[in-house]
Amino acid sequence: MITSQKGTRDLLPPETRVWNRVEAVAREVFALYGFDEIRTPVFEATELFVRSVGEGTDIVHKEMYTFTDRGGRSVTLRPENTAGVARAFVEHRLAQAGGVHRLYYVGPQFRYERPQKGRYREFRQIGAEVLGDPTPLIDAEVIVMLFDFLGRLGFSALSVSLNSVGTEEERPAFIQALRAWVSSKEDLLDDDDRRRLEENPLRILDSKNPKLCEWLGDPSLPRMIDHLSKESLEHHEQLLRLLDAGRIPYRIEPRLVRGLDYYTRTVFEVTAQGLGAQDALLGGGRYDKLVSDLGGPKTPGIGFAIGEDRLVEVLPEAFRGAAIGSVRPVAVIPVGAPDAADALALASVLRRAGLAVDLASGHRGLGNSLKGAEKAGARFAVLVGENERLRGAVLVKEMATRTQSEVPREQLVEWLRPRL
Ligand code: AMP
Repeated sequence: MITSQKGTRDLLPPETRVWNRVEAVAREVFALYGFDEIRTPVFEATELFVRSVGEGTDIVHKEMYTFTDRGGRSVTLRPENTAGVARAFVEHRLAQAGGVHRLYYVGPQFRYERPQKGRYREFRQIGAEVLGDPTPLIDAEVIVMLFDFLGRLGFSALSVSLNSVGTEEERPAFIQALRAWVSSKEDLLDDDDRRRLEENPLRILDSKNPKLCEWLGDPSLPRMIDHLSKESLEHHEQLLRLLDAGRIPYRIEPRLVRGLDYYTRTVFEVTAQGLGAQDALLGGGRYDKLVSDLGGPKTPGIGFAIGEDRLVEVLPEAFRGAAIGSVRPVAVIPVGAPDAADALALASVLRRAGLAVDLASGHRGLGNSLKGAEKAGARFAVLVGENERLRGAVLVKEMATRTQSEVPREQLVEWLRPRL
């Protein structure tokens, strides 16, 4: 037997109904905020991720699905989607049109990670990006949109963790202070810490080493917020005021740095209970240099990516139940083989009226067809047989009560609709 690859999974019905509903709500909500969909390729030039996500990050260092194609090019299955969006923005000269670009995407991403609950090698993200707006108002609006979306899925107790990682100019002084602090803990560091310190010092704040972690909560740990310029601090504080006004629950998290190099100023994350060790539901932030680093005009950006696998995992039960619900509430069953054409025609009438129909083939007998209708979640079974046909009617059976009514054909839609 050939099985699916490690870290990948098949999404089967009825679970796929939940995924579709989540994505439909995302599209509905994002549209209300003026976002349009962008679809970028699943693989890109490897160099794109090396230059944007960053050489020293875990993603580029050890998690990319990189291969040489038959033409000798190094390509990589996208580990995230912001780089692809920024590349497309530059390639299609979208900046020339001026204004602000609001884009969202939904799709699979690939990282060669050790699979565990909530962590897969193929996973899906729902994300949004705004290009061309430097103000804290857009940072706030993006977070408000996120909470609007999560609220419509039924989440109520979430809060966003926030930090500012400053700009490229502001970070060296902080990194210096951080290095000095860490060197006083030299004997606690493990190999991974040392590598982080060397290649991407901010990531030391994300260390998994328990000995060092004990110290990371210490008040003596330097904070980026103390090294921000006046403008960056003002941006951060203005964002907090806007979130207060928008009644968004947030927590300042001085150690939040995130795993990608391109962030500037605002970074944020939402974690959720019930996800175990992999509790980050979504992450995002501002990236004011990414577009210019990729050869485009200077263009500020901000965005987020939601881990859809994790989102579905902790989805409130009411939303899940409604999504799975009964999607084919009416079964049409031909009583005998000669009734097949009539049943097909009647199912079409109902479907044209917008009712989802489970058309039974009837070949296993009426009893089995009724059982099948019950399994499909049908609330009514419409039996199409010779006797009723002669009277211009059908027999409708209510599955829950087992009561039967003869209903004239031309009244069937109006009869069913209020009862569904
Ligand atoms: P990132 O692109 O690293 O900022 O991640 C954004 C979100 O994607 C995270 O908060 C997770 O919810 C999700 N995510 C990242 N990596 C994985 C993975 N390997 N499996 C499942 N979800 C993931």
